[in-house]
Amino acid sequence: QQAKLQQSFYVEYQTGLDEQHMRRLQIIESLKNAVEEKELHLVLQPKINCQTGSVVGAEVLLRWQSETLGFVGPDEFIPLAEQSGAITELTEWVCRESSKLLHQWHEQGRALKLSINLSAVDLLSDALPLLFEQLIKDFPDLPKLLVLEVTESAVMKDPEKAIARLETLKRIGFSISIDDYGTGHSSLAQLRRLPVEELKVDRAFVQHLSEDSMDKSIVRSTIQLAHELGLHVVAEGVEDEASWKVLQALQCDELQGYFFSKPLPISDFADYLNNHDVNR
Ligand code: C2E
Ligand code: MG
Ligand code: MG
Ligand code: MG
Repeated sequence: QQAKLQQSFYVEYQTGLDEQHMRRLQIIESLKNAVEEKELHLVLQPKINCQTGSVVGAEVLLRWQSETLGFVGPDEFIPLAEQSGAITELTEWVCRESSKLLHQWHEQGRALKLSINLSAVDLLSDALPLLFEQLIKDFPDLPKLLVLEVTESAVMKDPEKAIARLETLKRIGFSISIDDYGTGHSSLAQLRRLPVEELKVDRAFVQHLSEDSMDKSIVRSTIQLAHELGLHVVAEGVEDEASWKVLQALQCDELQGYFFSKPLPISDFADYLNNHDVNR
């Protein structure tokens, strides 16, 4: 009896694993053609000046509507794209599209910035500086307008190499932002060594800011520390007005979150600007 039970448990367990494994393989396989098949699109989440509430730019987030798998979220496909190497092509696509958008806005006289997300693989590969070189030839103002977000854990995979690469990118003129700050394992000593201009406080500390005094202490001291190091602070995951008010009082610089807007398709972002941008 026992042996039978064990066996059926084992079979179920195996099947579960196989399903997960199959799904991963399908994603990796389908990702290979995603760019070519035009299955990707960008959404933009407004970045807001904390004191004035006006729009200063947006974060670029990738969306994938797969022909075979339907909608797959970035939290699921980005890690697999990193494993399979497909991330390099995805990031190139994101960089090209973002550069086009910035160029258009620039010609329309709109002073907006974009932030893109780079993975550990991007940070260490030689493809990126070469691509940027090309893009800058077409649009020399690109480095002033494009912010590169990297997570602490991406940097810590190979700190020496990553820091050298970040320094090169900074020399070209890009600003670097540390994403999801507070969830990684980097120490203050390491933070000091990073050539970054901006720190994005992870939404885990921001979401319940107005009710949780512990979170408020964490965010307050993070903002203080960042400002003392000369960094600009962004809070992500602002979901209610009360949190905005707290962040204003704490002198946070910029905000992102559902309270202001979810990530929007590009045409909806243009509408959002027309309705919210005080500079227009
Ligand atoms: P991230 O860079 O930290 O992006 C912020 C995520 O938080 C986005 O999820 C955004 O939709 C979500 N978010 C924004 N405001 C709120 C809020 O108020 N409440 C809540 N609950 N969530 C909010 P998304 O678009 O699903 O992206 C998830 C992650 O996938 C990103 O985290 C980033 O790490 C990765 N990702 C997305 N696009 C790209 C990309 O083009 N390249 C790379 N390498 N990674 C990407
Ligand atoms: Mg980000
Ligand atoms: Mg983040
Ligand atoms: Mg994140």
